Amino acid sequence: MDRLTLTLPEAHALLHEESQRHNVARFVDADECRELIISEDTYAYGEACHALWDSDLRCSNCSSYKACHARHSQKKVERLIQTMYEVESKPVAIITEDGSAIEVSLELIDWHQADDFELATVPEKNNQNLHFLSSHDVLTGLLDRNTFYYTVRQSLMENPEQKYLMISLNIRHFHLINDLYGLEKGNEVLLNLAEDTLDIIPEGVHVTRLFGDQFAIFAPDDGKVTERLNRIIDQAKTKVYGETIILQVHAGIYVIDSPNRPVSVMVDRANMARKSIENDMTTRIAYYSHDLLDQAVKRQRLISRFPDALHNGEFVIYLQPQIDKTGNVNSAEALVRWIQDDGSVIPPGEFVPCFEESGQIAKLDRYIWETVVKQLKAWEGTPLENVALSVNVSPKDFQYLNVTELLDGLIEQYGIDRSKLHVEITETALIEAADDVDRIVKAGFRLEIDDFGKGYSSLNTLKNVSATTLKMDMFFLRLNEENRKRGDIIIDHIITMGKQLGMQVIAEGVETKHQQDHLFSHGCDLLQGFLFSEPVPVDEFERNYLGIPDAIRIS
Ligand code: C2E
Ligand code: MG
Ligand code: MG
Repeated sequence: MDRLTLTLPEAHALLHEESQRHNVARFVDADECRELIISEDTYAYGEACHALWDSDLRCSNCSSYKACHARHSQKKVERLIQTMYEVESKPVAIITEDGSAIEVSLELIDWHQADDFELATVPEKNNQNLHFLSSHDVLTGLLDRNTFYYTVRQSLMENPEQKYLMISLNIRHFHLINDLYGLEKGNEVLLNLAEDTLDIIPEGVHVTRLFGDQFAIFAPDDGKVTERLNRIIDQAKTKVYGETIILQVHAGIYVIDSPNRPVSVMVDRANMARKSIENDMTTRIAYYSHDLLDQAVKRQRLISRFPDALHNGEFVIYLQPQIDKTGNVNSAEALVRWIQDDGSVIPPGEFVPCFEESGQIAKLDRYIWETVVKQLKAWEGTPLENVALSVNVSPKDFQYLNVTELLDGLIEQYGIDRSKLHVEITETALIEAADDVDRIVKAGFRLEIDDFGKGYSSLNTLKNVSATTLKMDMFFLRLNEENRKRGDIIIDHIITMGKQLGMQVIAEGVETKHQQDHLFSHGCDLLQGFLFSEPVPVDEFERNYLGIPDAIRIS
């Protein structure tokens, strides 16, 4: 980002200086398409920017808009009849007399008579282009959604013999760039991806930004598409934003098998292909297949069956014990299972992501948390009364629920001890809903960072949140002989770091005796994993541990 911040006198002085060097130097408010007249102590809105070009309309390719919204200088060269214009737009924040800032662009414009070469090669600036303005995205200059759909249909109808592809492009975790580095950084990323895409694809291929970071490309199937997509993805990777962001772009391709489908369905299918690899760091391009459609239908079925299943009590908790060094079980994790009416069990990995997408996860989690609190209540006065239970909180829950208020309410309603309800949050939630997570800690709940190490910014998340517990993900533990040594070193350091930060450290996914010995000997507090017990129904858990706290012997 190269935005300047200037007071009114500084802006005034800079403008004076630049006016000596350029044909025109001016400040413009690019959102409103107006010049800003600056004096040493005040400012006022002036003429429309495009009046300079004798036009009534905003420029088709407004470099100042891009500069302001991406906070990055932009340059363009355009020809208007016989004159070449060079425009440089620099983002500036002007601090006005009352201390507020206006985001403007400092436009430096020079012109000269076009020579023969320029006349022949530089396309003419078209300021009367009402059609362009009403059909393109101002930020990226790509087609807007409606025009894209219209143009795709037009091409399909005009060339019925041609084979076409619909491609979906998306940036992994784009919202994090907005969240961590601001909207303008996000805009810069979008702008660069749009420019790279336009550079790499041949003319006549239609590209749109449907919304956010969702791009679609409609291209003839000329056998070179994957090569071009790989170039676009590589190009995106070479640009490093902020301190550490490396862009991971994923593409999904739908080979259009029938031109008679609605364009929206073609885009859906390309999206479906892309989404099938969005959590895969090694695959960048995926093709649509009917299997994906089957899976989508299956997901849809789960989503539509959810209300009845919840009503019928088909969601139950299984408990997985956490073992301390002496073999005692003082806590367990509650994990949801969907037991269908035919007795078959659906694991959460199959439905939690669907419900996260549909938003139903909040209803499910609220129900599960209440079930867990009721369970804690039911154990009062039994040998299991000191056992604490942890619940999982989806990052999506924060969009629909006031999690802290809800948990508080449950504790109060059932009159249980707050220290017995532990709250598991993933790193994603820590980043996306830091304030909400903070509220949980402030309300006095034990907060556990789940799947630590699995995410992309594990270490970063630790500095801001005072979580009580670190749950190390089993990803580290699933290692072969070769990299086990290295894995062990990483694990040791995580444990040491957690301890130095005053946190409890739990390892989950413990499957072998070697892991158990290594983890305990390096100071890990609790272990959870198949080595001790799978998650089991509540009655089985009670049978296993009721009255025999050291039922699990560590040999
Ligand atoms: P998680 O919270 O990280 O839970 C640990 C998962 O690891 C559980 O899978 C557990 O069965 C599995 N696991 C435990 N020990 C071992 C082991 O030694 N080896 C292997 N390979 N796996 C082990 P599960 O129950 O299928 O749950 C998967 C994920 O679903 C959970 O991961 C959690 O993110 C989510 N989930 C489960 N219950 C809920 C819930 O009530 N609400 C929400 N929002 N998410 C839930
Ligand atoms: Mg968990
Ligand atoms: Mg976990």
